[in-house]
Amino acid sequence: MRVGTGFDLHRLGAERPLKLAGVEIPGSPGLIAHSDGDVVFHALADAVLGAAGWTHDIGTLFPDDDPEWEGADSSQLLLRVLALVGAEWSIVNADCTVLCEAPKLSPHRDAMRASLAGVLGIAGTAMGLKFTTMEGLGPIGRGEAIACQAVVLLEPGEELQ
Ligand SMILES: [Zn+2]
Repeated sequence: MRVGTGFDLHRLGAERPLKLAGVEIPGSPGLIAHSDGDVVFHALADAVLGAAGWTHDIGTLFPDDDPEWEGADSSQLLLRVLALVGAEWSIVNADCTVLCEAPKLSPHRDAMRASLAGVLGIAGTAMGLKFTTMEGLGPIGRGEAIACQAVVLLEPGEELQ
């Protein structure tokens, strides 16, 4: 078994809807990024790459000057990463913590969890998702950014067994 972690943060202020885990969250500007800035998918993609032992992270795999990923739905980015490692590894479970001061994410928990489990191809019970604030402290606490940390456990896929 292999474990990996990922972390991502983007600044708020884009003139597009806020999307987290592929779910549109009303009441906030979007995240500023070359893609749609979905920190949950980005953190998970880096966690998968780390667990699989890749030296690349998503910043080098999907450079922010590549027109293919401009405004991209970041689930596509995670699916690409899963395709890269999928021959050798399959996901046992994943767990994410989203650091966000506002808006309140708990009304969207079920939709976000289902979205993540769907993209990762795991059962909802294997997908952890928590929300926390920064108690008003720092850039996240001031509502200037949203971040996500993720952990993923991989087991050898059919090719390695
Ligand atoms: Zn990112």
